[in-house]
Amino acid sequence: MAKTLLTGGTVIDVRTGQATVQDLLIDGERIAAVGESAPGGAVTIDVTGKRVLPGLSNNHVHLGWSGMGWDGGPQGILKDQAVSDGDGFNAIKAYANLRKSVSVGLTSLRDLGMNNSGFDAKEALERGLVKGPRLEIAGQALMITGGHTWWCGYEVDGIDGMRKAVREQYKRGADIIKIMASEHTPQFTLDELKAAVDEAHTLDMKITTHATIPQAIRNVVEAGFDSIEHGGPCEREVMEMIAERGIFVVPTNSPFILQTNRGPERGMPEHVVAERKARWAAAPRTDPLIEMHEVGVKFAFGTDAGSPCVEHDVIVPEMETLLEYGVVETPLDVIQMLTINGAELRGHDTDVGTLEAGKYADLIVVDGDPLNDITALGNIVHVFVGGEQLVADGRMTDWYGW
Ligand SMILES: [Zn+2]
Repeated sequence: MAKTLLTGGTVIDVRTGQATVQDLLIDGERIAAVGESAPGGAVTIDVTGKRVLPGLSNNHVHLGWSGMGWDGGPQGILKDQAVSDGDGFNAIKAYANLRKSVSVGLTSLRDLGMNNSGFDAKEALERGLVKGPRLEIAGQALMITGGHTWWCGYEVDGIDGMRKAVREQYKRGADIIKIMASEHTPQFTLDELKAAVDEAHTLDMKITTHATIPQAIRNVVEAGFDSIEHGGPCEREVMEMIAERGIFVVPTNSPFILQTNRGPERGMPEHVVAERKARWAAAPRTDPLIEMHEVGVKFAFGTDAGSPCVEHDVIVPEMETLLEYGVVETPLDVIQMLTINGAELRGHDTDVGTLEAGKYADLIVVDGDPLNDITALGNIVHVFVGGEQLVADGRMTDWYGW
């Protein structure tokens, strides 16, 4: 792979927020130098006046769901997608969603199930059939019989059942394990949760969980989970444990925000919109997140892409919401969630997440200054994954792997 030199751009150090006009040299799939003059032979791209940042990550996506429509009920079309759409169709959705993700600067994705499409997408990338973001998958999520979203996951009961289910996901190619630990009540016993953590960690996999109510959050913290999806209310003491143990939380406000904004034009009944708004007004989902941030809990960025009305190329509203509701304070906080924090959550921070010599050349170039206005991250000019340019001047490049 040729060398590429980005000249004249303002490189943002996402750890400190420092922005410096520097050249950046890509050699093969890695960053060779930042801020040093170029050796000859490199293809030069002038990015004067633009900002250069590490590639972004969406740490909560569902590649097998389109996110295009409203579900019409508690499960509706989402359940239909899960139950009626075959593996082939889900794989095509996953392919489209990989493309959409890269088009908005996402160079890393963490797919949290639910169907088999994550396995197919991962294999297609690994075998060079398609190009796209780095992808880490949970395969099928694990839930109790009849548990949260049982219609699209893998029902598991008992300690032995749990150990076998984790091993099965591992065997099929999962990188991480996802456990549904609550719906309206906690789900799984503490011993089942501990068995899942023990088995995942023995196999050198991280383990995450859907846990949105106080007792369930306490359970997964006690059981030793690495991260918690969505976030939810819990006692201050539990929040402090989450912070102390370095457990990441991935807030996902996009389903609420986008369904209430875009739902009506996509067939969502007005009374459902009103109900959701009233529920949020009574207990904003951001309130416990604000408190978690106060006690020092680390956040990584996620949108729950694939949920009704949450398309894979719509990521800016989640960023705006984090600031608007005061979950975090500054655009730099959001940029860190999208870059270095996501990399730490996934255990890949030695390879991605910042722009440093030796790391993979996963980077974006944008118009405008996201340190002042986070929506500038929506002005994607170039996207590189592993040194390969997948977006050039705002347009996607060749995607064929051969
Ligand atoms: Zn989700």
